[in-house]
Amino acid sequence: MFEGIRIYAGKIFKNHEHLKRLYDSARAIRLAIPFSIDQMSQTLAACVERSGMSDGYIRLVVTRGAGDLGIDPRKSVKPSVIIIIDKINIYPPATYDEGMAVITSSVIRNHPNSCPPRIKSLNYLNNVLAKIEANDAGVAEAIMLNHNGNVAECTADNVFIVRDGQVQTPGTAEGILEGVTRQTVIELCQTHGIPLIEKTLQRHDLYIADECFLTGTGAEVVPVVKIDGRVIGDGKPGPITRKIAQTYMKFVRGQV
Ligand code: PMP
Repeated sequence: MFEGIRIYAGKIFKNHEHLKRLYDSARAIRLAIPFSIDQMSQTLAACVERSGMSDGYIRLVVTRGAGDLGIDPRKSVKPSVIIIIDKINIYPPATYDEGMAVITSSVIRNHPNSCPPRIKSLNYLNNVLAKIEANDAGVAEAIMLNHNGNVAECTADNVFIVRDGQVQTPGTAEGILEGVTRQTVIELCQTHGIPLIEKTLQRHDLYIADECFLTGTGAEVVPVVKIDGRVIGDGKPGPITRKIAQTYMKFVRGQV
């Protein structure tokens, strides 16, 4: 299991939400993490303090530990916890001003009853295959559809569109990771009077969207202005996307 967590202005952003997701994921794969959430939280805080970084990224990894050949998880009895603290830069600053191009991938997001996308495990082959398609198309991200052909999420981000003034994003039943940034954006929309619904979206909804943006711990809120070569809106980051991105960047630093 793993988590990617941001440090903003010396504080661990959404610490509890990330740890809750990690422990839920571990529970889903029957991995007993040998520390309480509080102990893990204190350890993270100590590592951040020792790193001396006031802005950065925490990669927290929990594995089942060393084992034997074969796939039986009972062969690994001593979990390992790895905490890496580093700088992070996902996209160049121009991407946030100008927006970016993405594709929809031919790679279907994992079925929730096979390898549930809600589990944040290091099994990212499904995402990597879609990412390869994005690389080949010369774009930075790929939007993956689910087994029903509906929009799920990107390889490492959640997807939002704006249509007629309303923000729309696929619900968690579509087979997505329940992004901490996604949830933060949903709550910010609610508190700032921006209409938002979770609904099933088809590729068609992407093509006719007025605006589109992606959310993720690393990417934060990044505007999308082209999907499969089609221009979204007027080809520039839209006003609602810009407002949400600005509000998010203030919120993470405790300024709103
Ligand atoms: N979907 C996937 C597949 C991801 O890997 C991530 C995290 N990088 C996200 C969505 C966004 O989640 P969060 O906002 O919690 O970083």
